[in-house]
Amino acid sequence: MDDPKGLFAPDFKLTPYWWDRTPRPNLPSVSPPDKADILIVGSGYTGLHAAIQTARAGLSTVVVDAEDAGFGCSTRNGGQISTSIKPGFEELSRRHGREIATAILKDGQASLDYTADFIRTERIECDHRIVGRFHGAHLPKKFDQLAKECEGANPAFTTGAYMVSPQDMPTELGTKAYHGGCVFPKHASVDPARYHAGLLDAAIAAGAQIFSNCAATGLTRSPTGLMVTTTKGTTRAERVILATNGYSGPLSPWHRRRIIPIGSYIIATSPVEPELMDRLFPTDRVLSDTRKLVYYYRPSPDRSRILFGGRVSVSETDPRKSAPRLHAELTSLFPELRRIQISHSWMGFVGYSFDTVAHIGEENGVYHAMGYCGSGVGMAGYLGMKLGRKAAGLAGGETGLEQIGFPTRPLYSGKPWFLAPAVTAYRIRDRFGI
Ligand SMILES: Cc1cc2nc3c(=O)[nH]c(=O)nc-3n(C[C@H](O)[C@H](O)[C@H](O)COP(=O)(O)OP(=O)(O)OC[C@H]3O[C@@H](n4cnc5c(N)ncnc54)[C@H](O)[C@@H]3O)c2cc1C
Repeated sequence: MDDPKGLFAPDFKLTPYWWDRTPRPNLPSVSPPDKADILIVGSGYTGLHAAIQTARAGLSTVVVDAEDAGFGCSTRNGGQISTSIKPGFEELSRRHGREIATAILKDGQASLDYTADFIRTERIECDHRIVGRFHGAHLPKKFDQLAKECEGANPAFTTGAYMVSPQDMPTELGTKAYHGGCVFPKHASVDPARYHAGLLDAAIAAGAQIFSNCAATGLTRSPTGLMVTTTKGTTRAERVILATNGYSGPLSPWHRRRIIPIGSYIIATSPVEPELMDRLFPTDRVLSDTRKLVYYYRPSPDRSRILFGGRVSVSETDPRKSAPRLHAELTSLFPELRRIQISHSWMGFVGYSFDTVAHIGEENGVYHAMGYCGSGVGMAGYLGMKLGRKAAGLAGGETGLEQIGFPTRPLYSGKPWFLAPAVTAYRIRDRFGI
Protein backbone atom coordinates (compact mmCIF):
# COMPACT_ATOMS: atom_id res chain seq x y z
CA MET A 1 0.00 0.00 0.00
CA ASP A 2 1.19 3.52 -0.83
CA ASP A 3 2.13 4.97 2.57
CA PRO A 4 4.97 7.52 2.24
CA LYS A 5 4.26 9.08 5.64
CA GLY A 6 4.20 5.73 7.48
CA LEU A 7 0.67 6.40 8.72
CA PHE A 8 -0.55 2.82 8.53
CA ALA A 9 0.27 0.41 11.38
CA PRO A 10 1.83 -2.92 10.33
CA ASP A 11 -1.43 -4.69 11.26
CA PHE A 12 -3.62 -2.10 9.44
CA LYS A 13 -7.07 -3.43 8.47
CA LEU A 14 -9.92 -2.26 6.26
CA THR A 15 -12.53 -3.79 8.55
CA PRO A 16 -14.23 -2.14 11.55
CA TYR A 17 -12.15 -2.06 14.76
CA TRP A 18 -15.15 -3.57 16.58
CA TRP A 19 -15.04 -6.73 14.45
CA ASP A 20 -11.66 -7.73 16.00
CA ARG A 21 -13.42 -8.41 19.28
CA THR A 22 -16.78 -9.43 17.81
CA PRO A 23 -16.21 -11.49 14.64
CA ARG A 24 -19.06 -11.67 12.14
CA PRO A 25 -21.73 -14.17 13.20
CA ASN A 26 -21.75 -17.47 11.43
CA LEU A 27 -25.40 -18.38 10.83
CA PRO A 28 -26.41 -21.59 9.06
CA SER A 29 -26.95 -21.13 5.33
CA VAL A 30 -30.53 -22.30 4.85
CA SER A 31 -33.56 -21.03 2.96
CA PRO A 32 -36.31 -19.02 4.64
CA PRO A 33 -39.68 -20.75 5.14
CA ASP A 34 -42.57 -20.45 2.63
CA LYS A 35 -44.75 -18.59 5.12
CA ALA A 36 -44.31 -16.20 8.01
CA ASP A 37 -46.45 -13.74 9.94
CA ILE A 38 -43.76 -11.09 9.75
CA LEU A 39 -40.85 -10.77 7.33
CA ILE A 40 -38.21 -8.20 8.19
CA VAL A 41 -35.68 -6.98 5.62
CA GLY A 42 -32.45 -5.88 7.33
CA SER A 43 -30.78 -7.28 10.44
CA GLY A 44 -29.38 -4.13 12.05
CA TYR A 45 -30.73 -2.47 15.18
CA THR A 46 -34.04 -1.52 13.51
CA GLY A 47 -34.77 -5.00 12.18
CA LEU A 48 -33.73 -6.91 15.29
CA HIS A 49 -35.54 -4.69 17.78
CA ALA A 50 -38.68 -5.13 15.67
CA ALA A 51 -38.11 -8.89 15.50
CA ILE A 52 -37.82 -9.21 19.27
CA GLN A 53 -41.24 -7.58 19.69
CA THR A 54 -43.03 -9.62 17.05
CA ALA A 55 -41.42 -12.94 18.02
CA ARG A 56 -42.17 -12.39 21.72
CA ALA A 57 -45.78 -11.66 20.73
CA GLY A 58 -45.90 -15.21 19.34
CA LEU A 59 -45.76 -14.26 15.65
CA SER A 60 -43.57 -16.30 13.32
CA THR A 61 -40.81 -13.86 12.44
CA VAL A 62 -38.28 -14.12 9.63
CA VAL A 63 -35.38 -11.67 9.25
CA VAL A 64 -33.37 -11.62 6.01
CA ASP A 65 -30.15 -9.73 5.34
CA ALA A 66 -28.34 -9.46 2.02
CA GLU A 67 -25.00 -9.84 3.85
CA ASP A 68 -23.88 -11.15 7.24
CA ALA A 69 -26.22 -10.32 10.09
CA GLY A 70 -25.49 -6.74 11.17
CA PHE A 71 -23.29 -6.04 8.15
CA GLY A 72 -24.69 -2.52 7.72
CA CYS A 73 -24.13 0.48 9.98
CA SER A 74 -25.12 -1.36 13.14
CA THR A 75 -21.69 -2.97 13.61
CA ARG A 76 -19.59 -0.23 12.00
CA ASN A 77 -20.63 2.93 13.80
CA GLY A 78 -18.79 5.11 16.30
CA GLY A 79 -20.79 3.83 19.27
CA GLN A 80 -22.11 7.25 20.28
CA ILE A 81 -25.69 7.35 21.55
CA SER A 82 -27.53 10.65 21.18
CA THR A 83 -31.17 11.67 20.78
CA SER A 84 -30.86 11.64 16.98
CA ILE A 85 -33.14 14.67 16.57
CA LYS A 86 -31.15 17.28 14.65
CA PRO A 87 -33.60 20.22 14.28
CA GLY A 88 -34.26 22.20 17.47
CA PHE A 89 -37.64 22.95 19.05
CA GLU A 90 -38.11 26.25 17.20
CA GLU A 91 -37.44 24.69 13.82
CA LEU A 92 -39.67 21.66 14.48
CA SER A 93 -42.46 23.93 15.79
CA ARG A 94 -42.24 26.08 12.68
CA ARG A 95 -42.58 22.97 10.50
CA HIS A 96 -45.14 20.93 12.44
CA GLY A 97 -46.55 22.99 15.34
CA ARG A 98 -45.52 22.96 19.00
CA GLU A 99 -47.38 19.81 19.95
CA ILE A 100 -45.75 17.56 17.34
CA ALA A 101 -42.38 19.27 17.92
CA THR A 102 -42.60 18.39 21.60
CA ALA A 103 -43.65 14.80 20.83
CA ILE A 104 -40.69 14.37 18.44
CA LEU A 105 -38.18 15.73 20.94
CA LYS A 106 -39.68 13.42 23.55
CA ASP A 107 -39.07 10.50 21.17
CA GLY A 108 -35.41 11.55 21.10
CA GLN A 109 -35.13 11.54 24.89
CA ALA A 110 -37.14 8.30 25.14
CA SER A 111 -34.75 6.59 22.72
CA LEU A 112 -31.86 7.20 25.16
CA ASP A 113 -33.80 5.72 28.08
CA TYR A 114 -35.14 2.83 26.03
CA THR A 115 -31.65 1.83 24.85
CA ALA A 116 -30.18 1.95 28.36
CA ASP A 117 -33.12 -0.02 29.84
CA PHE A 118 -33.04 -2.60 27.06
CA ILE A 119 -29.31 -3.27 27.43
CA ARG A 120 -29.67 -3.53 31.21
CA THR A 121 -32.74 -5.80 31.26
CA GLU A 122 -31.42 -8.07 28.49
CA ARG A 123 -28.03 -8.15 30.28
CA ILE A 124 -26.10 -7.37 27.12
CA GLU A 125 -22.42 -6.84 27.87
CA CYS A 126 -21.47 -4.13 25.44
CA ASP A 127 -19.64 -1.40 27.40
CA HIS A 128 -22.74 0.78 27.50
CA ARG A 129 -21.97 3.82 29.66
CA ILE A 130 -23.82 7.07 30.23
CA VAL A 131 -20.76 9.27 29.87
CA GLY A 132 -22.29 12.38 28.28
CA ARG A 133 -21.27 14.21 25.13
CA PHE A 134 -19.04 17.24 24.75
CA HIS A 135 -20.05 19.20 21.63
CA GLY A 136 -17.30 21.69 20.76
CA ALA A 137 -17.84 25.15 19.24
CA HIS A 138 -15.51 25.25 16.24
CA LEU A 139 -15.91 29.06 15.91
CA PRO A 140 -16.53 31.70 18.61
CA LYS A 141 -19.96 32.57 17.20
CA LYS A 142 -20.96 28.90 17.40
CA PHE A 143 -20.48 29.10 21.19
CA ASP A 144 -23.20 31.76 21.42
CA GLN A 145 -25.51 29.77 19.16
CA LEU A 146 -24.97 26.64 21.25
CA ALA A 147 -25.69 28.58 24.45
CA LYS A 148 -29.02 29.73 23.00
CA GLU A 149 -29.97 26.18 21.93
CA CYS A 150 -28.89 24.84 25.30
CA GLU A 151 -31.18 27.31 27.15
CA GLY A 152 -34.24 26.87 24.99
CA ALA A 153 -33.92 23.15 24.20
CA ASN A 154 -37.58 22.41 24.92
CA PRO A 155 -40.22 23.90 27.19
CA ALA A 156 -41.63 20.45 28.07
CA PHE A 157 -38.59 18.77 29.66
CA THR A 158 -34.97 19.36 30.52
CA THR A 159 -32.02 17.72 28.85
CA GLY A 160 -29.66 18.86 31.63
CA ALA A 161 -27.33 20.30 28.94
CA TYR A 162 -24.85 22.92 30.16
CA MET A 163 -22.17 25.12 28.62
CA VAL A 164 -18.42 24.83 29.16
CA SER A 165 -16.54 28.12 28.80
CA PRO A 166 -13.33 28.35 26.76
CA GLN A 167 -11.37 28.75 30.05
CA ASP A 168 -12.80 25.48 31.39
CA MET A 169 -11.92 23.49 28.28
CA PRO A 170 -8.95 21.63 29.85
CA THR A 171 -11.34 19.73 32.15
CA GLU A 172 -13.17 18.42 29.05
CA LEU A 173 -10.65 18.02 26.28
CA GLY A 174 -6.95 18.62 25.63
CA THR A 175 -7.36 20.74 22.50
CA LYS A 176 -7.09 24.43 21.76
CA ALA A 177 -9.25 24.05 18.66
CA TYR A 178 -12.62 24.73 20.32
CA HIS A 179 -14.08 27.93 21.72
CA GLY A 180 -15.86 26.16 24.55
CA GLY A 181 -18.86 23.92 23.99
CA CYS A 182 -21.85 22.19 25.47
CA VAL A 183 -22.19 19.00 27.53
CA PHE A 184 -25.20 16.74 27.03
CA PRO A 185 -24.96 14.56 30.14
CA LYS A 186 -27.48 11.90 29.07
CA HIS A 187 -25.68 10.84 25.89
CA ALA A 188 -23.89 7.50 26.09
CA SER A 189 -21.26 5.25 24.56
CA VAL A 190 -21.39 1.59 23.58
CA ASP A 191 -19.39 -1.05 21.70
CA PRO A 192 -21.77 -1.22 18.71
CA ALA A 193 -20.85 -4.71 17.53
CA ARG A 194 -21.10 -6.25 21.01
CA TYR A 195 -24.49 -4.53 21.35
CA HIS A 196 -25.56 -5.99 18.01
CA ALA A 197 -24.30 -9.48 18.97
CA GLY A 198 -26.36 -9.37 22.19
CA LEU A 199 -29.36 -8.19 20.23
CA LEU A 200 -28.96 -11.01 17.73
CA ASP A 201 -28.85 -13.55 20.59
CA ALA A 202 -31.99 -12.01 22.11
CA ALA A 203 -33.85 -12.10 18.77
CA ILE A 204 -32.93 -15.76 18.18
CA ALA A 205 -33.86 -16.67 21.78
CA ALA A 206 -37.24 -14.96 21.22
CA GLY A 207 -37.85 -17.31 18.27
CA ALA A 208 -37.00 -15.08 15.31
CA GLN A 209 -35.33 -16.90 12.41
CA ILE A 210 -32.43 -14.97 10.88
CA PHE A 211 -31.21 -15.64 7.33
CA SER A 212 -27.96 -14.01 6.28
CA ASN A 213 -26.60 -13.68 2.73
CA CYS A 214 -30.24 -13.72 1.66
CA ALA A 215 -31.13 -10.55 -0.25
CA ALA A 216 -34.78 -9.60 -0.71
CA THR A 217 -35.10 -8.92 -4.43
CA GLY A 218 -38.85 -8.52 -4.94
CA LEU A 219 -41.89 -7.39 -2.96
CA THR A 220 -45.33 -7.92 -4.48
CA ARG A 221 -48.89 -8.22 -3.26
CA SER A 222 -51.01 -11.31 -3.80
CA PRO A 223 -54.56 -12.05 -2.63
CA THR A 224 -53.08 -14.10 0.21
CA GLY A 225 -50.50 -11.63 1.50
CA LEU A 226 -47.19 -10.04 0.62
CA MET A 227 -44.76 -12.11 -1.44
CA VAL A 228 -41.08 -11.49 -0.74
CA THR A 229 -38.67 -13.01 -3.22
CA THR A 230 -35.17 -13.57 -1.88
CA THR A 231 -31.99 -15.01 -3.33
CA LYS A 232 -32.83 -18.17 -1.33
CA GLY A 233 -36.53 -18.60 -2.06
CA THR A 234 -39.91 -16.89 -1.72
CA THR A 235 -41.80 -16.23 1.52
CA ARG A 236 -45.42 -15.19 1.86
CA ALA A 237 -45.88 -12.86 4.81
CA GLU A 238 -48.80 -11.08 6.43
CA ARG A 239 -46.68 -8.02 7.11
CA VAL A 240 -43.28 -6.81 5.94
CA ILE A 241 -40.92 -4.51 7.81
CA LEU A 242 -38.31 -2.59 5.82
CA ALA A 243 -35.28 -1.97 8.04
CA THR A 244 -32.74 -1.19 5.33
CA ASN A 245 -31.90 2.48 6.08
CA GLY A 246 -28.77 3.65 4.19
CA TYR A 247 -28.62 0.31 2.32
CA SER A 248 -32.14 0.69 0.87
CA GLY A 249 -31.96 -0.47 -2.75
CA PRO A 250 -34.41 -1.14 -5.56
CA LEU A 251 -36.65 -3.40 -3.43
CA SER A 252 -39.01 -0.51 -2.65
CA PRO A 253 -38.60 2.49 -4.97
CA TRP A 254 -40.97 4.59 -2.79
CA HIS A 255 -38.62 4.28 0.21
CA ARG A 256 -35.49 4.57 -1.86
CA ARG A 257 -36.69 7.95 -3.15
CA ARG A 258 -36.83 9.20 0.42
CA ILE A 259 -33.44 8.03 1.69
CA ILE A 260 -30.12 9.65 0.80
CA PRO A 261 -27.27 7.14 1.33
CA ILE A 262 -24.14 8.96 2.48
CA GLY A 263 -20.79 7.35 3.28
CA SER A 264 -19.48 7.98 6.78
CA TYR A 265 -15.77 7.25 7.26
CA ILE A 266 -13.94 6.36 10.44
CA ILE A 267 -10.49 5.29 11.67
CA ALA A 268 -9.09 3.68 14.81
CA THR A 269 -5.59 4.61 15.92
CA SER A 270 -2.88 2.34 17.24
CA PRO A 271 -2.65 2.29 21.07
CA VAL A 272 -1.99 5.71 22.64
CA GLU A 273 0.23 6.06 25.75
CA PRO A 274 -2.12 6.09 28.80
CA GLU A 275 -0.68 9.42 30.13
CA LEU A 276 -1.22 11.11 26.77
CA MET A 277 -4.72 9.65 26.50
CA ASP A 278 -5.60 10.99 29.97
CA ARG A 279 -4.24 14.43 29.11
CA LEU A 280 -6.08 14.71 25.79
CA PHE A 281 -9.24 12.91 26.88
CA PRO A 282 -9.63 13.57 30.63
CA THR A 283 -13.20 12.19 30.53
CA ASP A 284 -14.82 9.22 28.79
CA ARG A 285 -17.32 11.40 26.97
CA VAL A 286 -18.26 10.96 23.34
CA LEU A 287 -17.26 13.98 21.28
CA SER A 288 -18.48 15.98 18.31
CA ASP A 289 -18.46 19.56 17.13
CA THR A 290 -20.56 22.29 15.56
CA ARG A 291 -19.41 21.74 11.98
CA LYS A 292 -22.11 20.76 9.50
CA LEU A 293 -19.63 18.14 8.28
CA VAL A 294 -19.34 16.97 11.83
CA TYR A 295 -16.36 15.13 13.35
CA TYR A 296 -17.35 12.48 15.88
CA TYR A 297 -14.77 10.77 18.04
CA ARG A 298 -14.10 9.08 21.37
CA PRO A 299 -11.66 6.87 23.20
CA SER A 300 -12.23 3.14 22.66
CA PRO A 301 -14.05 1.44 25.58
CA ASP A 302 -10.69 0.32 27.08
CA ARG A 303 -9.24 3.84 26.49
CA SER A 304 -6.37 2.36 24.48
CA ARG A 305 -7.22 3.97 21.09
CA ILE A 306 -9.06 6.84 19.52
CA LEU A 307 -11.89 6.33 17.06
CA PHE A 308 -12.29 9.33 14.79
CA GLY A 309 -14.95 9.68 12.11
CA GLY A 310 -16.38 12.21 9.69
CA ARG A 311 -16.83 13.12 6.07
CA VAL A 312 -13.51 14.01 4.43
CA SER A 313 -14.22 13.68 0.72
CA VAL A 314 -16.64 15.37 -1.63
CA SER A 315 -17.64 12.09 -3.33
CA GLU A 316 -17.57 8.56 -1.94
CA THR A 317 -14.04 7.22 -1.65
CA ASP A 318 -11.96 4.25 -0.56
CA PRO A 319 -11.26 3.91 3.20
CA ARG A 320 -7.55 3.68 2.27
CA LYS A 321 -7.85 7.22 0.95
CA SER A 322 -10.09 8.59 3.69
CA ALA A 323 -7.73 7.30 6.43
CA PRO A 324 -4.88 9.84 5.95
CA ARG A 325 -7.41 12.67 5.64
CA LEU A 326 -9.13 11.70 8.89
CA HIS A 327 -5.70 11.41 10.50
CA ALA A 328 -4.90 14.96 9.35
CA GLU A 329 -8.15 16.26 10.90
CA LEU A 330 -7.47 14.35 14.13
CA THR A 331 -3.99 15.85 14.41
CA SER A 332 -5.28 19.34 13.63
CA LEU A 333 -7.33 18.99 16.82
CA PHE A 334 -4.60 17.16 18.76
CA PRO A 335 -1.11 17.93 17.34
CA GLU A 336 0.43 15.60 19.97
CA LEU A 337 -1.05 12.66 18.03
CA ARG A 338 0.80 13.37 14.79
CA ARG A 339 3.00 10.29 15.18
CA ILE A 340 0.17 7.93 16.05
CA GLN A 341 -0.53 5.33 13.37
CA ILE A 342 -3.84 4.15 11.97
CA SER A 343 -4.80 0.55 12.74
CA HIS A 344 -8.24 0.39 11.08
CA SER A 345 -10.14 2.39 8.47
CA TRP A 346 -13.65 1.61 7.29
CA MET A 347 -16.91 3.18 6.18
CA GLY A 348 -20.63 2.53 5.94
CA PHE A 349 -23.71 4.14 4.40
CA VAL A 350 -25.85 6.19 6.72
CA GLY A 351 -29.40 7.02 5.59
CA TYR A 352 -30.29 10.72 5.50
CA SER A 353 -33.78 12.09 5.00
CA PHE A 354 -34.57 15.37 3.26
CA ASP A 355 -35.93 16.91 6.48
CA THR A 356 -33.07 15.54 8.68
CA VAL A 357 -35.32 13.53 11.01
CA ALA A 358 -36.02 9.80 11.16
CA HIS A 359 -39.29 8.44 9.79
CA ILE A 360 -41.60 5.61 10.78
CA GLY A 361 -44.80 4.54 9.08
CA GLU A 362 -46.89 1.86 7.42
CA GLU A 363 -48.88 1.39 4.25
CA ASN A 364 -50.92 -1.69 3.38
CA GLY A 365 -48.94 -3.99 5.63
CA VAL A 366 -45.49 -2.67 4.68
CA TYR A 367 -43.84 -0.94 7.65
CA HIS A 368 -40.67 1.16 7.71
CA ALA A 369 -38.36 3.00 10.08
CA MET A 370 -35.33 4.73 8.58
CA GLY A 371 -33.56 8.03 7.92
CA TYR A 372 -31.58 8.35 11.17
CA CYS A 373 -29.26 10.87 9.52
CA GLY A 374 -26.05 9.34 10.88
CA SER A 375 -27.20 9.02 14.48
CA GLY A 376 -29.32 5.92 14.83
CA VAL A 377 -27.59 3.86 17.50
CA GLY A 378 -30.33 4.80 19.97
CA MET A 379 -33.14 5.84 17.62
CA ALA A 380 -32.98 2.81 15.27
CA GLY A 381 -33.54 0.41 18.17
CA TYR A 382 -36.30 2.59 19.63
CA LEU A 383 -38.17 2.94 16.33
CA GLY A 384 -37.53 -0.74 15.53
CA MET A 385 -39.22 -1.62 18.83
CA LYS A 386 -42.13 0.73 18.01
CA LEU A 387 -42.50 -0.82 14.54
CA GLY A 388 -42.48 -4.32 15.97
CA ARG A 389 -45.21 -3.37 18.45
CA LYS A 390 -47.31 -1.82 15.71
CA ALA A 391 -46.87 -4.77 13.36
CA ALA A 392 -47.80 -7.16 16.19
CA GLY A 393 -50.88 -5.08 17.08
CA LEU A 394 -49.49 -4.36 20.57
CA ALA A 395 -50.03 -1.15 22.54
CA GLY A 396 -47.11 1.25 22.91
CA GLY A 397 -46.20 1.63 19.25
CA GLU A 398 -47.09 5.33 19.04
CA THR A 399 -44.47 7.98 18.30
CA GLY A 400 -44.34 11.69 17.54
CA LEU A 401 -42.31 10.90 14.43
CA GLU A 402 -45.17 8.97 12.82
CA GLN A 403 -47.19 12.18 12.67
CA ILE A 404 -45.10 13.80 9.95
CA GLY A 405 -44.85 13.03 6.23
CA PHE A 406 -41.74 11.42 4.69
CA PRO A 407 -40.58 13.90 2.04
CA THR A 408 -38.75 13.28 -1.22
CA ARG A 409 -37.66 15.68 -3.97
CA PRO A 410 -38.64 15.81 -7.65
CA LEU A 411 -36.37 13.71 -9.90
CA TYR A 412 -34.69 11.98 -6.95
CA SER A 413 -34.60 8.20 -7.36
CA GLY A 414 -32.05 7.16 -4.71
CA LYS A 415 -28.72 8.21 -6.23
CA PRO A 416 -27.59 11.45 -4.57
CA TRP A 417 -26.08 13.30 -7.55
CA PHE A 418 -26.23 16.50 -5.47
CA LEU A 419 -23.92 15.17 -2.73
CA ALA A 420 -20.63 16.59 -4.04
CA PRO A 421 -21.94 20.18 -4.41
CA ALA A 422 -23.72 19.89 -1.04
CA VAL A 423 -20.52 18.76 0.71
CA THR A 424 -18.59 21.62 -0.92
CA ALA A 425 -21.25 24.11 0.22
CA TYR A 426 -21.13 22.71 3.77
CA ARG A 427 -17.35 23.07 3.83
CA ILE A 428 -17.69 26.76 2.97
CA ARG A 429 -20.43 27.22 5.57
CA ASP A 430 -18.29 25.48 8.21
CA ARG A 431 -15.36 27.72 7.43
CA PHE A 432 -17.37 30.91 7.93
CA GLY A 433 -19.88 29.59 10.46
CA ILE A 434 -22.93 30.25 8.26
C1 LIG B 1 -19.01 4.88 10.06
C2 LIG B 1 -20.32 5.10 10.77
C3 LIG B 1 -20.34 5.69 12.02
C4 LIG B 1 -21.55 5.92 12.67
N1 LIG B 1 -21.52 6.41 13.95
C5 LIG B 1 -22.67 6.56 14.64
C6 LIG B 1 -22.63 6.96 16.00
O1 LIG B 1 -21.57 7.11 16.61
N2 LIG B 1 -23.82 7.16 16.63
C7 LIG B 1 -25.02 6.96 16.00
O2 LIG B 1 -26.07 7.16 16.62
N3 LIG B 1 -25.07 6.50 14.72
C8 LIG B 1 -23.94 6.28 14.04
N4 LIG B 1 -23.98 5.78 12.76
C9 LIG B 1 -25.30 5.45 12.17
C10 LIG B 1 -25.95 4.20 12.82
O3 LIG B 1 -25.01 3.17 12.87
C11 LIG B 1 -27.19 3.81 12.00
O4 LIG B 1 -28.11 4.89 12.04
C12 LIG B 1 -27.90 2.57 12.52
O5 LIG B 1 -27.00 1.52 12.75
C13 LIG B 1 -28.98 2.15 11.52
O6 LIG B 1 -29.43 0.87 11.85
P1 LIG B 1 -30.40 0.09 10.86
O7 LIG B 1 -30.69 -1.21 11.49
O8 LIG B 1 -31.57 0.93 10.52
O9 LIG B 1 -29.58 -0.06 9.52
P2 LIG B 1 -28.21 -0.95 9.15
O10 LIG B 1 -27.57 -1.36 10.42
O11 LIG B 1 -27.50 -0.16 8.20
O12 LIG B 1 -28.87 -2.25 8.55
C14 LIG B 1 -29.49 -2.28 7.29
C15 LIG B 1 -29.33 -3.70 6.74
O13 LIG B 1 -30.22 -3.88 5.66
C16 LIG B 1 -29.62 -4.85 4.82
N5 LIG B 1 -30.32 -4.79 3.51
C17 LIG B 1 -30.49 -3.73 2.69
N6 LIG B 1 -31.20 -4.08 1.61
C18 LIG B 1 -31.52 -5.39 1.74
C19 LIG B 1 -32.23 -6.33 0.94
N7 LIG B 1 -32.80 -5.98 -0.21
N8 LIG B 1 -32.35 -7.60 1.38
C20 LIG B 1 -31.81 -7.98 2.57
N9 LIG B 1 -31.09 -7.12 3.36
C21 LIG B 1 -30.96 -5.86 2.95
C22 LIG B 1 -28.17 -4.43 4.77
O14 LIG B 1 -27.32 -5.49 4.33
C23 LIG B 1 -27.93 -4.00 6.20
O15 LIG B 1 -27.32 -5.04 6.98
C24 LIG B 1 -22.79 5.55 12.06
C25 LIG B 1 -22.76 4.93 10.80
C26 LIG B 1 -21.55 4.72 10.16
C27 LIG B 1 -21.53 4.06 8.82
